[in-house]
Parts: sequence; structure tokens; C-alpha cells
Amino acid sequence: MPGFEVFGNEERQQVNDVLESGVLMRYGFDGMRNGHWKAREFEQAFAKRMQSAHCQLVSSGTSALTVALASAGIGAGDEVIMPTFTFVASFESILALGAVPVLVDIDDTLTLDPSAVEAAITSRTRCVMPVHMCGSMADLDALQAICDKHDLILLEDACQALGGTYKGKPLGSYSDLGCFSFDFVKTITCGEGGAVITNNEKYKVNADQYQDHGHDHQGNDRGAETHPTLGYNFRISELNAAVGLAQLAKLDNILAIQKEHYTILRSALIQVKDVSFRRVPEGGEENYSFLNFFLPSEETARKAHKALGEAGIDGCFYWYTNNWHYINGWEHLRNLKSLGNLPSEVHNQMQDLNNCDFSKSDAWMGRTISCLVKLGWSKEEVARRAEKMRSAIESVIA
Ligand SMILES: *Cc1c(COP(=O)(O)O)cnc(C)c1O
Repeated sequence: MPGFEVFGNEERQQVNDVLESGVLMRYGFDGMRNGHWKAREFEQAFAKRMQSAHCQLVSSGTSALTVALASAGIGAGDEVIMPTFTFVASFESILALGAVPVLVDIDDTLTLDPSAVEAAITSRTRCVMPVHMCGSMADLDALQAICDKHDLILLEDACQALGGTYKGKPLGSYSDLGCFSFDFVKTITCGEGGAVITNNEKYKVNADQYQDHGHDHQGNDRGAETHPTLGYNFRISELNAAVGLAQLAKLDNILAIQKEHYTILRSALIQVKDVSFRRVPEGGEENYSFLNFFLPSEETARKAHKALGEAGIDGCFYWYTNNWHYINGWEHLRNLKSLGNLPSEVHNQMQDLNNCDFSKSDAWMGRTISCLVKLGWSKEEVARRAEKMRSAIESVIA
């Protein structure tokens, strides 16, 4: 997944363009900036690559989720359905708006189980937020059908699946709104950064204004602009955008390398009896940033994870006991440990997460191991790694 592995002269050159003018901000200073508009250029190139009408660049993936929700008018008391397996940013962005996260089970796609989503819908539900974890996607047709039936917004968190596709569409572009992260460990990086994509004109205008204090961005005198609504500051800096512009040009090459390495690792593990792979919904293609597989039981998964570590195979994750990606590790959310008071809507409507039954999620996550696919491996390294992984896993199953 990490675009930082291919950081080089192209990124340096882009950043230098900005440093030479000294205009580190994405708006204004037209005369000083030597014609460089890195954030704007990135937005146009990214929208095109994602086959979407609009892209709004922001300061992080978490900001992207917050801005996307806000642009669709989601606020206090609105319920947003999200999975038990994701990054903490999902509930952070929802709570930041005073909205209420509703956690539901995942299935063998390791993303939202459509039947669990349907069962969680109430009169306050406004949005369904699938998270395309570890390079692969949710069953988007099924989720879209549910959203159509109940008049809900579908928002894809594609932060970990940039470049994957579903039924010919880039992940993130299928639904009402798509979000991406360009933090330092993502498929492409800006250092810190994120993006919202949409085909909806109203969401586009709302996102543009909300991420910059409500500025209407009309005319060329920033101080004279009006503020049609309240906003906030989720802007990206021109320096970060410049890095991302160079990285975006490398995306297709990154994806090709990931696919090659992933395919070698998978063909080794497919030989192991009782190892199976995460289900990719029909019509979907992963971005190949992780190889995700199931061991026959929680016990063998724990042992396999340990054996992989002992064999020197780095970058293999057992999310089930991880602090950041699964409900088991979110003690702060379960007990609503916030610095200040949370809105009463959140207190009144939140599930009692300490007493929810997520045994269906547990059954999948307890058996799941995900291995990061790196770009820098040589052909020999990948082959050696594949062989070591196969024998380490076989040693705990036999
Ligand atoms: C990284 C990530 C985010 C948040 O992105 P930041 O840029 O780190 O704020 C959100 N969702 C998922 C699934 C992620 O992996």
C-alpha cells in the first residue's frame, strides 16, 4: 500500500515549484504564485482518474469523511451506519458533527453485511458508510438497493482501496460521496491529505465552502467573499497537494506492482489446505494492497500470526486484537470517553456497545490475517516470502 516507498525526484520537483514562489496556501496570492495551483491541479486530475465530476481536496481522510457528511447535511441526531471493522476515523467524523454512529456486523467481505445494515435502519438513519478495508470492497449493489429503498445517502470510505474497482467504476465513485486518505501510509501520500469525490453539484458546493470557513470562493478578493453557511477549516496546504500530484502520476504503476506481488503470495497460500480468502463481491477488483485470508479457527489464526512473525514476515496484521481497527479495541468509544460533553442526541441514541452482540463479526475477524503488500520487494524476495508464509502457516495447521 505505501506510496512513500516510491517518493523521489518527482515529488521534490513539485514541492520546489511551491517553495520557489513561497505561496504555501491553495487560495489567492495570484500574482505571486508563478502560475502554480497544485491543489486545484490535483483536484482536476484526481476527479478525472476517479471518473467523477468533482473532487474536493482536504487536510486528511478523517476531514474528508467529516466534510462529506457535512456536505450532505448530516448533523446532530442523524444516524450513520458503519461497520465494526474499520479505522477509528469512521466514528470520529460522525461524532464530530454531533451525529450518531450505529455499528453493525461485517461478513466474509470484511465489510458491511447488507442484512445487518437493513436491520439497523430507524427513522433517524440518514447515511450508510461502507468502508472498503484492506484493498477490497463492500457489496455496493446490495447497499445501494437498501439506500434507494429507504432514501439514504451511500458514502464510501475508500481510504484503503484507492484504485480498486466495482463493476467497472473506481471505488469511491460508485455512490453519492467517496472519501480518500493520503496520509503517510496510504496507496499514494501527500504527507497528510484527503479527498471527497462526488457527482452531486450541491454536495460539491457545500464541501468547497464547508472546508474553508464557509467561503463562497467567488471573485478574486478573498476578504470580500461571502459566507453562505457556517464552515470550518479542513484545507490542505499547497505543499502537501504538490507531493500528492507527483504521487498520483505513479498510481497506476503502484497498482501494477501490488497486483504482481499479491498474485505470487496468493498462489503460495492457495496450496495450504484449510486456508481460504476474503470474498470479493462479484464484479469487484481489489487494489491488491493487502492479501487477506482466513484460518480455520481463531486458535489457528492466532498461532499463524505468531508463526509468521517468528519467521520474520513483517507487515502481517491480526486485526481482532488490534487497538485501532476493530470494536474490541475501542474501549474509549464503548464508554464514550470524550474530553468535553457530547451532544445529548449521542448520549440518548448510542447503542450500548459494551453489551451488543457482534459475534458474527467476531467469527470472521477472529480468523482473519491481512498481510501488507509492499512495492520495494524484488522478485526473489516475494518468492522467498511466499514460500516462508506457506510453511509458517502449514506448521500451525498440520
Ligand atoms: C487512513 C484511514 C482513514 C483516515 O485517514 P487520515 O488521513 O489518517 O485521517 C479513514 N478511514 C480509513 C479506512 C483509513 O484507513
